[in-house]
Amino acid sequence: MSVQTIEQSRKKTSDLSFVPELVYFEPAALDYPKGQRIFEWAKETGIPYRMTTSHNRITNLPGDTELEQYRIAKRTLVVGIRKTLKFDTSKPSAEYAIPIATGCMAHCHYCYLQTTLGAKPYIRVYVNTDEIMDAALGYIQERLPETTRFEAACTSDPVGLEPITGSLRELIDFMGQQPNGRLRFVTKFHHVDSLLDANHNGNTRIRFSVNSKYVIKHFEPATSRFEQRIEAAAKCARAGYPIGFIIAPIIWFDGWQDGYGELIDSLDEALPPDVRTDLTFELIQHRFTKTAKSVIEKRYPKTKLEMDIEKRKYKWGRWGQGKYVYPDEQAEALRLFISERIFERFPEARIEYFT
Ligand code: SF4
Repeated sequence: MSVQTIEQSRKKTSDLSFVPELVYFEPAALDYPKGQRIFEWAKETGIPYRMTTSHNRITNLPGDTELEQYRIAKRTLVVGIRKTLKFDTSKPSAEYAIPIATGCMAHCHYCYLQTTLGAKPYIRVYVNTDEIMDAALGYIQERLPETTRFEAACTSDPVGLEPITGSLRELIDFMGQQPNGRLRFVTKFHHVDSLLDANHNGNTRIRFSVNSKYVIKHFEPATSRFEQRIEAAAKCARAGYPIGFIIAPIIWFDGWQDGYGELIDSLDEALPPDVRTDLTFELIQHRFTKTAKSVIEKRYPKTKLEMDIEKRKYKWGRWGQGKYVYPDEQAEALRLFISERIFERFPEARIEYFT
């Protein structure tokens, strides 16, 4: 690309959190308006694109080493059709995971997508949102008269991709019309402006993932800054959305009490009083599997993330491989300390779970 084209491309995409370096399209994706729109945008902004027979089989990514390919994959967008419309379950935060994207451009060292996406860390977005929403409707009807919650951030950070896809906005408008449907998603990005005037009807809860300065600084490259996330949270609350914070992963480090105490204090200082009604917190301690440890050590060889299995407790997993969490005493200390701080500063908030 010429310097001028790159400059033009930057200008056109400066409001985006994520500008891919390469885009793949499944030919059938171009039969959908969203696929067409993304295709036109990629052409207009001068982003190189290729065609692929399947969004699940991208084999010719550039890069000489595995690490280089991984970094390029994180900047590669694949536009396809979601064929499997059977949703996974998503406990404890929702009944089902609603699939609108898979993969993420950020580089959080601890992210479980490192292992769940295996050799496919590139970012897939699905253009058949109408079919995905039809499937969601089926799940809602199946569970009536119960209310069914859908989590849209199980396999991605959809807010970071929203300026390109607009899929969250569609889901929010759709769920706004479902008396028995609720949408939830969590993000480390601040690109929420296009969601503020959606017809959410209070049926979507937007949660922002926050952490101590130490964790954000060392383990969350390529995400929005803490201040940006809080500002976005306040905007969403003012737009009438129920909001929440997920503190995850909670990490035991030297000075963790000061770090997490300061986090709750900063939330208290930054969050205007008028946006605190119906506020939720979800608390998740750091965990890893043996596979995750070896993948993380390869991809982020200098990471300071502590993954010493001798210092952890093994927790059996339902689906085979178990996870390493903090020993009960440490986990309880983290839970107690952070919960107490939350209740002190946000007496009206609800802690949904600690896990
Ligand atoms: S922002 Fe979320 S999904 Fe993306 S890398 Fe970080 S933890 Fe993973």
